[in-house]
Amino acid sequence: MYGHKPFRDSLSPASGRHRDGLRLTSESGIFAAEPAKDAEIAALLALARTARRIVAFTGAGISTESGIPDYRGPGGIWERNAPPTLGDFRDNIETRRAYWLERRERYGKLRDTLPNSGHFSLTRLQRAERLTGIITQNIDGLHQKAGSDPAATIELHGTAHQVRCLDCESSWPAEQIQARLAVQPLPACTVCGGILRAATILFGESLPADALRRAIAAASACDLMIVVGSSLIVQPAARLPRIAANAGARLAIVNAEPTPLDTIADVVVRSGAGAVLSALADDVEREIAQRGEG
Ligand code: NAD
Ligand code: ZN
Repeated sequence: MYGHKPFRDSLSPASGRHRDGLRLTSESGIFAAEPAKDAEIAALLALARTARRIVAFTGAGISTESGIPDYRGPGGIWERNAPPTLGDFRDNIETRRAYWLERRERYGKLRDTLPNSGHFSLTRLQRAERLTGIITQNIDGLHQKAGSDPAATIELHGTAHQVRCLDCESSWPAEQIQARLAVQPLPACTVCGGILRAATILFGESLPADALRRAIAAASACDLMIVVGSSLIVQPAARLPRIAANAGARLAIVNAEPTPLDTIADVVVRSGAGAVLSALADDVEREIAQRGEG
């Protein structure tokens, strides 16, 4: 079972928020991070220089610099809107009405959100053939938008960019359903008349078995796992770094706040994801260019 509070693909900038390593810029809703300490960055670059099969494990924190609030902080999704359980969603038409009303108002903003340098840097590492996969807890699709290989991007909690039927599993691009909402505020499946929902995990729902299986395989096969922007308290996804470490991989954690797995990590960089991952991609590209010249 998906063992923690659920989320919805809703968006709105958090406000007035100050946390370790992060501050909110005035109106943008985008988080600017405190600079990382040089020693932490140097340790991360050194780990990455010897790694050949890096897997990134990303959470909501990689997308805050794109203006999408993360989960638990002030102004976060959970605080503003407790999401429905799967049972409530299935049994209660009012729950579904509220769900679709919110989605109608918010999906357009998610659709238009752009990736940031954190997402782009992972794409660069993938193109440099150092990063073999991305496991993400995010539902925003920003890794793919940044050009990461969709086949090597595992979405553990589904995607907000698809809508599917609870009953017959037919699915549609979210944009198509969005266009129907103006005339049909509670859309129904055109194949079987069943209940539609976004292709994201609701509370009380299992993670997609295939995605979880692929994620465990990727974690077991990497030689460096870099956790980016995850509080690492949502289970079972937060087990993946342990799986990687137990299988012999080194573990790096890039997160603005402490996590429960900092104690088993080889390197912890407590800073904003965008700048740190940019430094990492720069270094790997520089190293490859130097090797080409030498
Ligand atoms: P979380 O909100 O529990 O943790 C996010 C972590 O990222 C926090 O520890 C925070 O300090 C850190 N952080 C925030 N901005 C950062 C930055 N710029 N650089 C580095 N670190 C930063 O998120 P989670 O662990 O991913 O779990 C929440 C659940 O809700 C997940 O399933 C998540 O995918 C989902 N969710 C997804 C989105 C999205 O798709 N963008 C948004 C909100 C929640
Ligand atoms: Zn159906």
